[in-house]
Amino acid sequence: MELLHNIEEVRNRVRSWKKDGFSVGLVPTMGYLHEGHQSLIKKAVEENDKVVVSIFVNPMQFGENEDLETYPRDINKDSKLCDETGADLIFNPEPEEMYKEGFCSYVDMNGLTTELCGKSRPIHFRGVMTVVTKLFNIVTPDRAYFGMKDAQQLCVIKRIVKDLNMDIDVIGCPIIREEDGLAKSSRNTYLNKEERKAALILYKTISLGKDLLVSGERDVNTIINKMKDNINKEPLAKIDYVEAVDLETVEKIDVIKGKVLIAMAVYIGKTRLIDNFTFEC
Ligand code: AMP
Repeated sequence: MELLHNIEEVRNRVRSWKKDGFSVGLVPTMGYLHEGHQSLIKKAVEENDKVVVSIFVNPMQFGENEDLETYPRDINKDSKLCDETGADLIFNPEPEEMYKEGFCSYVDMNGLTTELCGKSRPIHFRGVMTVVTKLFNIVTPDRAYFGMKDAQQLCVIKRIVKDLNMDIDVIGCPIIREEDGLAKSSRNTYLNKEERKAALILYKTISLGKDLLVSGERDVNTIINKMKDNINKEPLAKIDYVEAVDLETVEKIDVIKGKVLIAMAVYIGKTRLIDNFTFEC
């Protein structure tokens, strides 16, 4: 497995693969890899001849008071995981390589980014869309893999690929959880022992929401209020949002109908965690 930092080197490697008729899968990440990322890499290895994992903590998607500086990084451990999982290449650029002097072009969207994380992180998705488009242009993959953990991000990427006619299959992969149900996340490392325990409230609330739906509840207000009440019972938790949206349009809904995404962002102490589930009826 190769570790490259330079855009031109990645382009040359992919060009030579394509000349030999190989298909290429891309797994975009911010590193500090765990089994959630690994599940994406595994799927990419199964479905493509060559797999590129990008590891880039993208400054453009972090707000001013967010955790860009403290975001965990460990390229040696990440390289080992990628190698063992069967990836062929890690692309690990410096911010200066991705955003050269004078950079002023962005990818943006009107819909899909107004609710959920788009509300509390106003510049986040512009940063995500811009960097993912750049990665798509650099790696030119046949397929790209994203986790349902970031469900809104997956919807947004599927939409730009459709709207801008990108010839790439976007593949969504299920949320991988710890044994006790907490969704795996690089940010879980911020949690102390007490907070780690308190963080379980997200999964417990996801389970509560699912139970309500399975028992036939279809009124969004009832479901969301019960979920919020449950989170508020945990003293270390502070709700950013709990919302039900249409899975395609990411617009708020009043009644559960069709494909629905119920998503939440909750602060546990200073750490902002996200989780979600989908339901179809
Ligand atoms: P990140 O490094 O957090 O930007 O995540 C990179 C990719 O891995 C995104 O597509 C995430 O949705 C996905 N991912 C992160 N955590 C998980 C998880 N627990 N299960 C599945 N996919 C995940």
